[in-house]
Amino acid sequence: MTIDIEPFFQQQCAAWPSAGANYSALNAVQTKELMVGQVQYRVQYNPGRITSSASQVDAESIANRPCFLCTDHLPSEQQTLGTYGHGYGHTYHILLNPYPIFPRHLTIKHVEHTRQLIFPTAPERLLDMLEFAEELPGYTIFYNGAKCGASAPDHFHFQVGNRGFMSIESQWRKLSPMELASFRSGKSTVYVLLGDLFRRALIVEGSDAGGIFELTEKVMHGVWGNTPEEPPVNLLAWYEGGRYTLCIIPRAAHRPRCYYAKGNARLLSSPGAVDLGGLFVLPRQEDFEKITGRHLAQILSEVCLYADYDWKITYSRL
Ligand SMILES: [Zn+2]
Repeated sequence: MTIDIEPFFQQQCAAWPSAGANYSALNAVQTKELMVGQVQYRVQYNPGRITSSASQVDAESIANRPCFLCTDHLPSEQQTLGTYGHGYGHTYHILLNPYPIFPRHLTIKHVEHTRQLIFPTAPERLLDMLEFAEELPGYTIFYNGAKCGASAPDHFHFQVGNRGFMSIESQWRKLSPMELASFRSGKSTVYVLLGDLFRRALIVEGSDAGGIFELTEKVMHGVWGNTPEEPPVNLLAWYEGGRYTLCIIPRAAHRPRCYYAKGNARLLSSPGAVDLGGLFVLPRQEDFEKITGRHLAQILSEVCLYADYDWKITYSRL
């Protein structure tokens, strides 16, 4: 079943003027392209994202603010597209994100106020994510772990944005065999993006959601071993031509050093799945103007985990 978001989108923009204005403003948003080695990134100057980029996500700040994803706290204009459950014990509502990065930007939130985590204790949420990817063709579903980009680490949610804006969706296929290690398990394959020097993402691909799920659990275990808490990770998933693609971006840090720097060294970048997928969102004009590929390389090298995944995955015996 395909979810048609267009009537809902139009209705929300009409009934909720501030959200509608934010989507109109997105038409005039400034962007530029930067290269990091052979990999292309896009940078977007988007002042509407300042609240998200600068949000306090420490436990005390989160405990002291009303949860903006709980139904009781939603603005009166914010409606729900529908209620979705996939048979894995979880139910979700789809909402319009009022501070868009994409021309169509949704939030898929759990109906209950329950922590942002998938691994290791709620892995079936990954199946929900893949199912949403199948139901929303033309879109990428993304997940920011609680420690790496989620501005609501206390309320489980995915986000949805149009495909075609994040370079990782297409660029990984252009890497040469030398730059791409691959391991096959059943009908699914995991690729380690060796040529993507500072990001080192992993891609799990296949036609069977159950196979992707099993292989992803093995990859997570291969990279991090047994962890009681969810390892810091960003996920992106999409579905095309009968195949699922899941991109796993292991993280080393929530924010780069430049986020905390003073004066001219400060660069307010708080990367999540979208940034690391290839679309860096900067809420301050001065940062947009000064950022170069060298800044991006530095940010990526600090926030992404660099490890010998190919070695670890080989030895975890897929
Ligand atoms: Zn909540």
